[in-house]
Amino acid sequence: MSERLRDYHGKRDFRRTGEPEGGEGRAAPEPRFVVQIHDARTMHFDFRLQVGDVLKSWSVPKGPSDLPKDKRLAVPTEDHPLEYEEFEGVIPEGQYGGGTVIVWDHGMYEPLSHDRRGNLVDFAGSLERGHATFRLHGTKLRGVYALTRFRDGDWLLVKTAEGRSRGRGSPDPRRARSARTGRTLAQVAAHSGDG
Ligand code: MN
Repeated sequence: MSERLRDYHGKRDFRRTGEPEGGEGRAAPEPRFVVQIHDARTMHFDFRLQVGDVLKSWSVPKGPSDLPKDKRLAVPTEDHPLEYEEFEGVIPEGQYGGGTVIVWDHGMYEPLSHDRRGNLVDFAGSLERGHATFRLHGTKLRGVYALTRFRDGDWLLVKTAEGRSRGRGSPDPRRARSARTGRTLAQVAAHSGDG
């Protein structure tokens, strides 16, 4: 069990939540990303990038935007297990993050961070230093995005301008559909009792 999941485990009671405990997942050769919509106490999006054997995670209140002019606040949260990429369902009320989760988008990404000389640098190190760029190959999100720390504990998620941008901004979380199952939050919530 990864030491890096200690915070994740500390917040959850796995006898009650259906979220994955983790530890079984194998890191994919091509790193993966997932964007979940989480209808918790406050609606937000969770943006996660596979780095090593965990999903580095940020809570993005307004959701990612495909318009370069939109700078989206992204607040780091605890590392999640790789299996979390698949998680869609209802976290019981009273549990940490209680509410409904759908997988809004997922796919692979290419780390793109370079140093000043243009050499590719270690992606995890770039994140630790507070700036990393990557190309997303999702079913919805495509293109180059950057995550940049701009003050203690706060990051920005921004799409970088390349070529013509004809984005639509951020999705309406209540109308958005799962990339895995095509369901809305309401549909997932309505079937939460099915087991
Ligand atoms: Mn969340």
